[in-house]
Amino acid sequence: MNDRLSPQALASAGTLQKFKMFIGGEWVDSASGEYFETDNPYTGLPWGLIPRGNEEDVDLAVKAAHKALHSREWRGLTASNRGALLRALGDALGEHAPRLAEIEVRDNGKLYAEMSQQTEYLRQWYYYFGGLADKIEGAVIPIDKPDNFTYTRYEPIGVVAAIIPWNSPLFLAAWKIAPALAAGNTIVLKPSEFTSASLLEFAKVFETVGFPPGVLNVVTGFGAEVGAPLSVHPLVAKVAFTGSEATGKRIYASAANSLKKVTLELGGKSANIVFKDADVDNAVKGVISGIFAACGQTCVAGSRLVVQKSMHDEFVEKLVALAKSANLGDPMKPTTQLGPVTNRPQLAKILDYIDIAKKEGAEAVIGGKRPVEEALQNGWFVEPTIFAGVKNSMRIAQEEIFGPVLSVIPFEDEEEAIAIANDTTFGLAAGLWTTDLRRALRMPARLEVGTVWVNTYRAMSYMAPFGGYKQSGLGKESGQDMIKDYMQKKTVWMSTQEEVPNPFIIR
Ligand code: ADP
Repeated sequence: MNDRLSPQALASAGTLQKFKMFIGGEWVDSASGEYFETDNPYTGLPWGLIPRGNEEDVDLAVKAAHKALHSREWRGLTASNRGALLRALGDALGEHAPRLAEIEVRDNGKLYAEMSQQTEYLRQWYYYFGGLADKIEGAVIPIDKPDNFTYTRYEPIGVVAAIIPWNSPLFLAAWKIAPALAAGNTIVLKPSEFTSASLLEFAKVFETVGFPPGVLNVVTGFGAEVGAPLSVHPLVAKVAFTGSEATGKRIYASAANSLKKVTLELGGKSANIVFKDADVDNAVKGVISGIFAACGQTCVAGSRLVVQKSMHDEFVEKLVALAKSANLGDPMKPTTQLGPVTNRPQLAKILDYIDIAKKEGAEAVIGGKRPVEEALQNGWFVEPTIFAGVKNSMRIAQEEIFGPVLSVIPFEDEEEAIAIANDTTFGLAAGLWTTDLRRALRMPARLEVGTVWVNTYRAMSYMAPFGGYKQSGLGKESGQDMIKDYMQKKTVWMSTQEEVPNPFIIR
């Protein structure tokens, strides 16, 4: 937010695009009538006004979702028909992919090149889970009690609260919306206050497909004012959250009161491990894209380079040369390779960590400051930064920065590499660069993380389960199994006996 003019004044001056929220199939203002600004990270200026929701809006949205859950239009749909609606949504999203990517860039400052790939790809989650909707089967149990017929069935859980962060809103929301709706639930979606516009635009596409009203609702606003009441609302059955470790833990604790189901996709401090036997040029490219893609603002950022001592200097030199060639600028331009970071608080946090690193004795071999070019002064840019001389115990090696800052940590042998990689409270992902087949087969089992990439980094798919070990999260997203995280299993017992036995004679 900025303090030049109030949001209301800017709106009445007609300079900002004004959005509405989506509740019960209607486009509405917030109950309070208030708005907040959403900023463009490249210009540093506001471009839109987002309704500032609160507890009252949350209550309306949850009740709308609850009503839809029990409505004939939704409950009465066959699983095949739910699947068809999801596939139609995938088609519609495909048609709007370039426009949605542009809105995403305007709000989060990531490269159009990356966002357009993401918005093009995200329809696959809707196709995949749409296809899965009518393939979830219960079982008939060959029960040990005679005269009984016993079977299980899968049912939706209820109203799902999906709380989304700012780094890839449409993409991370799809991971939750597609399986939740395929399973027959209804949803209240809460975008990040930094990037609400793309999910509101998504709801416009959603609306055209034919889902009954209230099946998906979007309430915009701040964490404390919308996210917190949403995650304790008595009619919410499950909270699916992606975001910071601190907020995730708060949600887990508050959801416990009413025994809500919770999935959490939290942070990481992932190690990209490079052995001397690696294909060095590939490893350099993999390490650079692991940390500088999306300006380091991904939960899987390979923010620790764990590199074999005997090749340390040569490898760092090559990294620096490639990092130096990165073209910073307007994220909409195809020639730009590194955009701004998404928001002002994040910029301040990254610069703070850079200071901390210097005070801890690490040496910035490249970057370590904001760029000086005139053209980059308005946007929230940070130079690609590589710190050498980092010990794994330092704060920059232990705490998630979520920015373009790489810590280089040397190791002697495989045992030490594993020890360093695992010496963190996080456990989201790791990269491994080696041409030794035995090592490539041996090591993934010993890394305490939810995903290991061997000779690649950041590959993701709707088919592949994704989620953290340790304090990187609870539960998985994507892949076939996880649809059951949005369902509950019921057991039905039926007697085939003509006569109920005497209750006082125990058999
Ligand atoms: P980030 O640093 O990515 O903004 P957060 O975890 O704070 O991380 O934000 C992720 C999402 O969680 C955002 O939509 C945010 O508004 C929401 N959020 C923040 N605080 C809370 C809270 N106390 N309860 C529920 N949701 C929250």
